[in-house]
Amino acid sequence: MTVVLDATRQTTADAPVAGPAPAPVVASAARAAEKPSLIGLERPALASALVAAGVAERQARMRANQIWQWLYHYGVTDFAAMTNVGKDLRALLAERFTIARPEIVTEQISSDGTRKWLLRMPARGAGRPVEVETVYIPEVGRGTLCVSSQVGCTLTCSFCHTGTQTLVRNLTAEEIVAQVLVARDRLGDHPGGRTPDGAMVPTEGSRLVSNIVMMGMGEPLYNFDEVKTALLIASDGEGIALSRRRITLSTSGVVPMIARAGEEIGVSLAVSLHAANDATRDVLVPLNKKYPIAELLDACRRYPGLSNARRITFEYVMLKGVNDSPSDARALVRLLKGIPAKINLIPFNPWPGSGYECSDWETIEAFADIVNEAGYASPIRTPRGRDILAACGQLKSESQRMRARERLALEAMVAGSDED
Ligand code: SAH
Ligand code: SF4
Repeated sequence: MTVVLDATRQTTADAPVAGPAPAPVVASAARAAEKPSLIGLERPALASALVAAGVAERQARMRANQIWQWLYHYGVTDFAAMTNVGKDLRALLAERFTIARPEIVTEQISSDGTRKWLLRMPARGAGRPVEVETVYIPEVGRGTLCVSSQVGCTLTCSFCHTGTQTLVRNLTAEEIVAQVLVARDRLGDHPGGRTPDGAMVPTEGSRLVSNIVMMGMGEPLYNFDEVKTALLIASDGEGIALSRRRITLSTSGVVPMIARAGEEIGVSLAVSLHAANDATRDVLVPLNKKYPIAELLDACRRYPGLSNARRITFEYVMLKGVNDSPSDARALVRLLKGIPAKINLIPFNPWPGSGYECSDWETIEAFADIVNEAGYASPIRTPRGRDILAACGQLKSESQRMRARERLALEAMVAGSDED
C-alpha cells in the first residue's frame, strides 16, 4: 500500500498535538499482557473460553453471541459496558480475560486525512513485544484500512524494504483484528460513536473503514490460519460486518494457498505480479523461482468465484528500466488474456540502498495507456502527500526501527524526487 504522510500532526491517543517530531505515547486502554484476550476467537472458541471460566455450558453459546456483538459491533473496550451481561459475570470475565487494545505508540495524521498507527503488541510466551503499522486511507465515499499480517517477512522481494527485515513473527488473529478495532476506535467508526478527540465521525449510515486490504507488513498466505480467522471475524454479519468483496488479500504468489484463500476465506484477491517474464520476476520476487508465472496464473484462473464482477487485481510496481517498457506492457497484456483482471500500477517508493528508481511519470502513463487500450482498468496508485514516506515495504517496527541516519537519507531522497 503506497501512502505518503506528513508529520505535521502527531497525536497522542487522547488529543492531537502539533509539531513535527514523533513523540511516543501510551494509550490509556493499553492491554495487560498477562490475561488472555477474548478478541480474535471464533464463536465456538469464544464459547469454550467462557465455559472454561465457569459459564454454564447451556448458556455459553448465548453469552458468546452477546459478547461477540459488544466486541465487534459496538467495539467496547471494557466489560462494564456489556449491559445485557449480568454484573457477576462481567466481574468474572474482567478477572479472567482482557478486551483492551494494543498500545498505540504513535498516531500520525496526514494533511489529506491519511492516518498511520504504530501499535505495540504484548509479548507472546518467551518472545518480546513487537510493533506493527496500520494505515487508514480515506477516499471519497470510502475508506481503506491497510492491515499487517506478520512482523517483517520471510520473503525477500528485492524492491521491498520489509523484505530486508527478517521475520520476527506471525501476528495472531487477535492482533490482526485488533488493528481494525483500533482504527475504528480512533476514527469514531463504531455504531453509537464513542468519539475520541480528533475522531472523524461517519455520516448517517456510512462507515469510515469500508474496505480492508491485507497489504501491510508480511505475506498473509504464510500466516494462513490466523489471517483466515481474523478475516472471517471482520466479515461476520453480526460484528464488524464488512462484505468479503470489500476485503482484499494481497499475495506475492504462494500458489498452493491461493485456492484455499478463495474457498475458506472468500475475499478478493490481489497478486503482486510486478513482471511479465520469469527472468525479471525471479529477481524482483524470488518466490517466483519456486512458483513461476505460469503456475501462478493457473491458480489465478481457478480462483473460486472469479468473474467479470469479481476480478483479480494484479499489482505491478513501476521500476525504471527494469519492468516499465512498452514491450513489458504488451507482454503483461498477453499474459493476462482471459483472466478477469484489474492492473494496479504502483509507483516505486524508494528507500536507501534499494538500488531501484521509480519510473518517470510519462513512462508510467505510456504503460497505463497500453494496458487500458487492451481493455484493462489500470489505475495508478498516487502518493498522497509528500513529507514522510510510509509505503508498503517500508513499514518498520520497533523490532528493527529505521535508524535516524537512515530516516534522514530517506527524507533527503523524497525531497530530491520532489524537485524533479
Ligand atoms: N506480502 C504481500 C502483501 C504486502 S506488500 C505481497 O507482496 O503482496 C503490498 C504491496 O506493496 C505489494 O504489491 C508489494 O509488492 C508492494 N511494495 C512493496 N514494496 C514496495 C515499494 N518499495 N514501492 C512500491 N510498492 C511496494
Ligand atoms: Fe514480503 Fe510482500 Fe515485501 Fe515481498 S513485497 S518482501 S512478500 S511484504
